[in-house]
Amino acid sequence: MEEINFFSPASVANVSCGFDVLGFCLDPIGDEMVVRRTVAPGVKISKIEGQDLPFDVKKNVAGVAAEALLKEFPVDFGFEIEIYKKIKAGSGIGSSAASAAGSVYGINELLGRPFTAHELVSFAMEGESVACGAAHADNVAPVLLGGITLVRSTAPLEVIKLPSPSELTAVILHPKIELKTLHAREILKKNVSMEKAVQQWGNLGAFVSALYQEDYELMSRSLKDGIVEPMRSLLIPNFENLKKASKDAGAIGFGISGSGPSVFALTQGLKTAKEVAEALKKNISSIGIDFELHISNINNQGIKVIAD
Ligand code: ADP
Repeated sequence: MEEINFFSPASVANVSCGFDVLGFCLDPIGDEMVVRRTVAPGVKISKIEGQDLPFDVKKNVAGVAAEALLKEFPVDFGFEIEIYKKIKAGSGIGSSAASAAGSVYGINELLGRPFTAHELVSFAMEGESVACGAAHADNVAPVLLGGITLVRSTAPLEVIKLPSPSELTAVILHPKIELKTLHAREILKKNVSMEKAVQQWGNLGAFVSALYQEDYELMSRSLKDGIVEPMRSLLIPNFENLKKASKDAGAIGFGISGSGPSVFALTQGLKTAKEVAEALKKNISSIGIDFELHISNINNQGIKVIAD
């Protein structure tokens, strides 16, 4: 195989009680990528459409992730990467993760799969460190493994793929405001009280258990974040009202996606998801903010090859 064309999906990280550890993969939203083998050695980003992003392989997460993989698996030929961007960088749904995960996925396929999906996560993480200053796995893991993932540890890397209950559906609202990841990071307090920590790990454990049992009521009781959300939600216009509107419309949970400004709701089934989307649309429209709204099932496959 000389070239591969695929869909690299968006993802939601920092899922409420699972700050920095829990993420899930989306379906209809994502970038398209092509990775092609070249005679010339090294990595080249030959095309980026849809957004103004660096072509420099040391600055583009796709280039950094690709070089990390090739350092472990040197070859005497090279690769060029084309990125057709649909996920807006900085929207909070893993734009850089789609590129970082996509580049290592494509190269691994063209090399005959020397690495497992789990191993690819560590290369993609190196790419992610260019975008956010630290090597996070909570977006790249669900893109590469599919479904819902839990990052138990980054060094050594251990990612666990959790079950995705069949009816679980996500609604994503992207209010088109600028929110700097750095600011969202700075606003976080460095210390957490014992009381809040106990609540959070109780909720995270219960949420994971609810996924195994397909217990939507337990998911609803445990999909909470008493640590990060109270601080970061201040940066998102109308957050509390949006949350209330989604809950009133039947959502089992609502929270900030990544470091925002996108927010997500989870529902049981498509019908409720549509009702929640309608409620969110009404609410955000009332304050005059431009937005994008998506409904997605949990994409249990992750990256998908696009047939010719
Ligand atoms: P979010 O998760 O909020 O969508 P990201 O964490 O993906 O945002 O970070 C976007 C940052 O990563 C931007 O500063 C962007 O310039 C940088 N970046 C570098 N390469 C890419 C890429 N291939 N795709 C998207 N963003 C990239």
